[in-house]
Amino acid sequence: MWAVKEQQHKLCDDCSCGVANDDWSHIDFWATSQDESDQEHASITAALETLGWLSHSHKSDDSSYFTCAVCNDIQCSNPQIWVTT
Ligand SMILES: [Zn+2]
Repeated sequence: MWAVKEQQHKLCDDCSCGVANDDWSHIDFWATSQDESDQEHASITAALETLGWLSHSHKSDDSSYFTCAVCNDIQCSNPQIWVTT
């Protein structure tokens, strides 16, 4: 059992990198317009505020479908596990 109440969140590699480095420039590579980029930045910022303080735990061994907690994209890979306490 966990000593503290801990919540796990599954993040995609892009968001994991974004949270770790506070670098979301990858969004600008696929966004087709400045508006789309701004919207995505806004929704990610909102998601991060809802989640709270995230600490990286590990990369999951299970390759499966999951919805990224930050960008809401459905991914099929090994999720990065981040925890909030
Ligand atoms: Zn993501």
